[in-house]
Amino acid sequence: MIVKQGRQEILSYLEDASNFRESEAERLYIPEDETEIIQVVKECVREKTPLTVSGGGTGTVGGRVAKDGAIISLEKLNRIITIDPEGKRADLQAGVVISDFLKVLEKQGLFYPPFPTERSAFIGGNVSTNASGEYSFRFGSTRKYVQRLRMVLTGGEVIELRRGEGFERDGLIPLGRLQVPLPSYRTPQIKCTAGYYAWPGMDAIDLIIGSEGTLSIITEVSVSLIEQLPERFIMVIFLPDDTRVLELVSLIKNDQKLTTYSLEYFCPGSLKFLQADFPEIPEGTFALYVEAESSESQLERWVELTERFGAVETFIGDDAKNYQRLIDFRHRLPENVNSFFRKLGIVKVAADIAVPEAAFPGQYRFYREIMAQEKMQTILFGHIGENHLHFNFFPRTPEEKERAYRLYRACAERAVSRGGTIAAEHGIGKIKHGWLQLMFGEKGVREMAAIKKMVDPACLLNLDNIFPRQLLSEV
Ligand SMILES: Cc1cc2nc3c(=O)[nH]c(=O)nc-3n(C[C@H](O)[C@H](O)[C@H](O)COP(=O)(O)OP(=O)(O)OC[C@H]3O[C@@H](n4cnc5c(N)ncnc54)[C@H](O)[C@@H]3O)c2cc1C
Repeated sequence: MIVKQGRQEILSYLEDASNFRESEAERLYIPEDETEIIQVVKECVREKTPLTVSGGGTGTVGGRVAKDGAIISLEKLNRIITIDPEGKRADLQAGVVISDFLKVLEKQGLFYPPFPTERSAFIGGNVSTNASGEYSFRFGSTRKYVQRLRMVLTGGEVIELRRGEGFERDGLIPLGRLQVPLPSYRTPQIKCTAGYYAWPGMDAIDLIIGSEGTLSIITEVSVSLIEQLPERFIMVIFLPDDTRVLELVSLIKNDQKLTTYSLEYFCPGSLKFLQADFPEIPEGTFALYVEAESSESQLERWVELTERFGAVETFIGDDAKNYQRLIDFRHRLPENVNSFFRKLGIVKVAADIAVPEAAFPGQYRFYREIMAQEKMQTILFGHIGENHLHFNFFPRTPEEKERAYRLYRACAERAVSRGGTIAAEHGIGKIKHGWLQLMFGEKGVREMAAIKKMVDPACLLNLDNIFPRQLLSEV
């Protein structure tokens, strides 16, 4: 096992893709196997040293950024253990990099759908954040694919959870030798990564998925797979107004003749971040990014729709080169936005809200009214197919920052009151505690803290993720 000591030695582990940098951690462990992980856990428990798990470091809420204590990186547990093409299942160590996994699957005609846009993430990080990605519109989030988890608890024991083997009954969720109480709140049954999952009759494995490393160190993951997707093409449809955008989205969602894999939205302001790479983007338009099956009949239908809805311009990726170019179109936006924020040196104010289908048109109009009235730069983009848009504010002064948070709060309150979530895909980490409280109230968050205390009695693992560590001494 590699052990590194001293801040300078471990600098690259003290950050992720958020601007959260408040780390005073001094030690890094890079174990080779599970036995060494247990050794690290025992050492930290003995020394009462907080321990934070590091995956690929692509998280956007400071989850892997240790405020203090030690870091354990799973990067050496990067073996694909087995792929079973018949049973459509794979067993992986938690440090397998998603892009490596997808490449190996491709050679076998298989596919793992819920990977996030940033493919340098690890499978363990994806499970811990319940990641979703460009194909979640059609296939759902990571939760749906996780069949087995192996993990180390801070008590030193190793447990395995298999989907279908343990369910909540009489208010108790079986977790190894523990019986964890089912919280009183309910997780919205939409795309959601806000705190511990809670639902009557829930499978015990779902408590760990999306728990942001606060309950256990995941060492192995088994996931279900599907066959490689059929031939697809990408279209970016530029429309002159957003009334047409909403109508077209609704039509696409309900059209049984279309097989749509991705459905994403870009406001005119967000398209400006792509203008340098794609100068042919028509000024002032809204865009819908669609990835769909490329059979002849479906292509005809798409052409008919773009004409009917008065598309100003359509980019089509129906050969390898143009397909890749349009994949880049989609991927560059979060990258360009993030590097813009970084250059300005400001902490971005970015809402990650999703709402149920019926609440979406109203929520959308609410965002657009804010954008129309606000002088501060704002952009809106993302997963319109899942009623989940990223609303980003660019505050350049303290006053703007305060206003950005006030507006964010108004959006969050509106969404929560209509059954929505304040964290659809990025989780809570260390920067969204207040939003979680808004969603589940003080009682709900305290219930989460009580669960953590039961599963991690040493209270050392991934402190300050999901809720502040102080809460652990109050429950
Ligand atoms: C450009 C960009 C695009 C992105 N697009 C998407 C997207 O489309 N969809 C999406 O969902 N997310 C997206 N993300 C966010 C990020 O990629 C995901 O949250 C991803 O799942 C994080 O995985 P990671 O391995 O990098 O985890 P890290 O950032 O290292 O850690 C994330 C959390 O998981 C915990 N953790 C990691 N491994 C383990 C383990 N083995 N056991 C226990 N806890 C663990 C960490 O402690 C931390 O709390 C994007 C990020 C960037 C920078």
